[in-house]
Amino acid sequence: MTRSPKTTRRDFLKSASITSAVFGAPVAQLTAEETRRASDNKGRPRNIIFMVSDGMNHGALSLAHHHHARVHAKDTHWTRLYREHPVVRCLAETFSANSLVTDSAAAASAWGGGHRVENGRLNIGPDGQAYAPLQTKLKQARILTGLVSTATITHATPAGFAVNVDSRGKEDEIARQYAERGVSVLLGGGTKFFNDDLRETFRKNGYDVFNARGELQAAASLAPRPVLGTFADGYLPYSIDWAGDESLQKKVPTLTEMAQFAVDRLSALPNDGWFLMVEGARIDHCGHANDAAGSIHEQLAFDDAVGVMLEYVSGRDDTLLIITTDHGCGGLQLNGISGKAGQPMAPGIYGGTNQSFDHLRDFRMSLEAMNNKAGGLSGPPLRDFLKVQTGIELTDAELKTAQGLKSHDLARVFAGYHGVSWTSGNHTGDLVEFCAFGPGSHLFPAFVKNDDVHRLLLQVYGIA
Ligand SMILES: [Zn+2]
Repeated sequence: MTRSPKTTRRDFLKSASITSAVFGAPVAQLTAEETRRASDNKGRPRNIIFMVSDGMNHGALSLAHHHHARVHAKDTHWTRLYREHPVVRCLAETFSANSLVTDSAAAASAWGGGHRVENGRLNIGPDGQAYAPLQTKLKQARILTGLVSTATITHATPAGFAVNVDSRGKEDEIARQYAERGVSVLLGGGTKFFNDDLRETFRKNGYDVFNARGELQAAASLAPRPVLGTFADGYLPYSIDWAGDESLQKKVPTLTEMAQFAVDRLSALPNDGWFLMVEGARIDHCGHANDAAGSIHEQLAFDDAVGVMLEYVSGRDDTLLIITTDHGCGGLQLNGISGKAGQPMAPGIYGGTNQSFDHLRDFRMSLEAMNNKAGGLSGPPLRDFLKVQTGIELTDAELKTAQGLKSHDLARVFAGYHGVSWTSGNHTGDLVEFCAFGPGSHLFPAFVKNDDVHRLLLQVYGIA
């Protein structure tokens, strides 16, 4: 296949339009010709953007959709993609080698290395054999790889596309392999896994090395080099907590900003194409914690990135956009509520549902932050604190349950008000959402297994 070796003027104009989308300027309307080109799904792209809302049950997608509809009277970008574009939509099976319920390491290995492995492993088979990950295969074809995540950038999902490690917990080793293998763009959390020596190695290898949001913003005008940016010691903060904390906002970029920067950098570096994985990692963490409001904010932050990536691929004929999740987590659902105990039944069946669900718009912080900030409070001061953070005034009996500020206890108490409850704090075995838009999308079947995705990605690039 032929590829244009240089960034064209058209690329430059496109990336300028992305910048305006992020910083609030109006976005140009597509011409009829651009719409036609974007709708042609049979071509072969140079680039793939692979977006992962980690640990996203249909319940999490639904809650964000409902919240956006009620609070902002808007569609999410993800649902807008389904409504307005000729998207290829699939149902995906997420098994690992040893379980109907996968973890992120095995799931990312299936996508990234083409083999189902046991939970916890990264592209290492049952007898210790190493399966070549996507980044290694693409590099041989001069196709660059970028990884962006709101977890540590050495976390299981990004790692599955670029490393071979027998245990996902070895994040120092994962960081070392990133340096050795030359992943072109690395943006996320996890500063603690890149010690001074390793950061120096990245610098010597020609990388820009960042650890603050301002550096990322200022770098947009610099000469393009590969980049390592880590903006927190561990995970990046939850979106709901970031929104209420100016010091976090100074330090930490949004997922959208990182994704946009990654697209611009990859496009500007010499390449015969690129692959970018963008992970909203903490929807999964809200699932483990049973944090309904946290999940909504996290999913909507992911959706902002979907909007900007969708804007990028629309009107081009060279970039395929894929959006999916690796597994469900927590099994959350909005449950129908007829009316509050002790009050007249609201009109209609489940007539109390909307009013209950709207409690979630008043939540100001994650359940984890409540635990961190209210430690030591009890009785009326704790009741007052929780009321300020959630708008909900707990009864004496509820306050007793909430007293230890354990996230699952808080979730159970608040579920009585907002109607969202959970099946567990674990991953789930759901068949999940998978969609593809743009050139190459016709290759994806209506039912897809996670390990088939790897083969299909290679086929899309024409290097199978
Ligand atoms: Zn998880």
